Amino acid sequence: MTKPVRTRIAPSPTGDPHVGTAYIALFNYVFAKKHGGSFILRIEDTDQARARSDSEGAIMKSLHWLGLSWDEGPDVGGPKGPYRQSERQTIYQEHAQILLDRGEAYRCFCTPERLGILREEQRQAKGRMGYDYRCRDLSSQESDRRAQEGEPFTIRLKMPKEGFSLMTDLLRGEVRRSYEELDDQVLLKSDGFPTYHLANVVDDHLMEITHVIRAEEWIPSTPKHIRLYEAFGWEAPVWIHMPLLRNPDKNKSKISKRKNPVSLLFYKEAGILPSALVNFLALMGFSFGEDVEKFTVEQMIEVFSFEKVSLGGPVFDLDKLNWINGLYMRDLSEEALLAEMEAIWLNRAYFAKLLPLVQNRIKNLNDFIDQTAFFFNVELSYDTPDGPLLLPKNRTPKEMGEALTEAAEAMDRMESWTIEAIEAALRTVAEEKNLKVKELFMPVRVAISGKKASPPLFESIEALGKERVRFRLRKAAEYVKTLQS
Ligand code: GLU
Repeated sequence: MTKPVRTRIAPSPTGDPHVGTAYIALFNYVFAKKHGGSFILRIEDTDQARARSDSEGAIMKSLHWLGLSWDEGPDVGGPKGPYRQSERQTIYQEHAQILLDRGEAYRCFCTPERLGILREEQRQAKGRMGYDYRCRDLSSQESDRRAQEGEPFTIRLKMPKEGFSLMTDLLRGEVRRSYEELDDQVLLKSDGFPTYHLANVVDDHLMEITHVIRAEEWIPSTPKHIRLYEAFGWEAPVWIHMPLLRNPDKNKSKISKRKNPVSLLFYKEAGILPSALVNFLALMGFSFGEDVEKFTVEQMIEVFSFEKVSLGGPVFDLDKLNWINGLYMRDLSEEALLAEMEAIWLNRAYFAKLLPLVQNRIKNLNDFIDQTAFFFNVELSYDTPDGPLLLPKNRTPKEMGEALTEAAEAMDRMESWTIEAIEAALRTVAEEKNLKVKELFMPVRVAISGKKASPPLFESIEALGKERVRFRLRKAAEYVKTLQS
């Protein structure tokens, strides 16, 4: 009897919900549903330093918004839980111990200092980089004794020193990798936390994942994972590495927030309908057949197979997304469209937030529209009479491009989105970039509002929200570089 299909996504909650997560979630979801299987959400939060408390909830909310709901996960539970890696620490420790007992892994007592020196020496010698196996052949007596004496250690996986690792990928065929390039991977860190590799493989096995469908960027990790399955004596899942989403630039670089908004929240706030976004993501590599471009998830499930997925780097093209979104807009009844509009910006709560910002600037109710139009737009143009104010006197386009980019990044890093914190972050940027406060604040004002005179700056930024603010700052950074100093 074949095993029931089980797929998963395993996001790390380190930032905003990413379009790439939704893209991979979609293919996992569709494949599981096609085969009457289960789709699982697992939160990979073992990297405590990078985890962000608000991120897990935002990821779940965005996936629900897209209709990509899971059968098992941290919020809904399930038979193979817990589904948050931070709640599974003892499982990883027990499994590292199993590998020690089987002679497939070993304790490494090398200190971070020693490893640092080793790396430096290897760099200078321009030879093989990586661990030099010093602890690999310690006797078990010595290893036990040193552990008992309390000497800190990591646990490393024994990798073959020669030969090739072979992965069979459903989309790519056989992918070979020389073992010489692969280090004895650390599985358990000296603080007892697992690395991604150990936790990921142990969980995929215990959660009975049959198909690992993930992004191409994980291909370099897969030989380590295959080796782990062998070391445990487990059957490995089917590997499917989806093509990376690309920026629509000349060299089709990997999608990044420097070039394109990558947060799902941005698209939600930009008035993209979830059904349109899912349809658009489906087109990234998958062809429905007969040139059909508009289809629902249910229709995709009906016809889906990985044979219809191609590897040519799919381009995340906003014009195309808007085009598809337009098709979905046309399909909605007026009533439904009204409801969508109310849900985004055209609602009393948003008006109530904006009104105090402009109340003493308006002479009649109609002025409200003029004064607040930029609060309802997504994209602004800087090719306007005030556009040149992005560049203060005596500053170069390059300098201001960098300053506005840094302002966008500072906004990106903010965890608490308050007026005070926004002001403090922008003051820090001015200081770091050796700009007078007004040399930064005027360009920021023009960037976010399109005009030199706008309602109070930090309040406006707060009301606009992080997504549109950093989108505009990045666009303004690009634009300022085209100006003459
Ligand atoms: N935690 C990894 C991520 O952030 C999971 C990668 C995988 O699917 O194996 O995407």
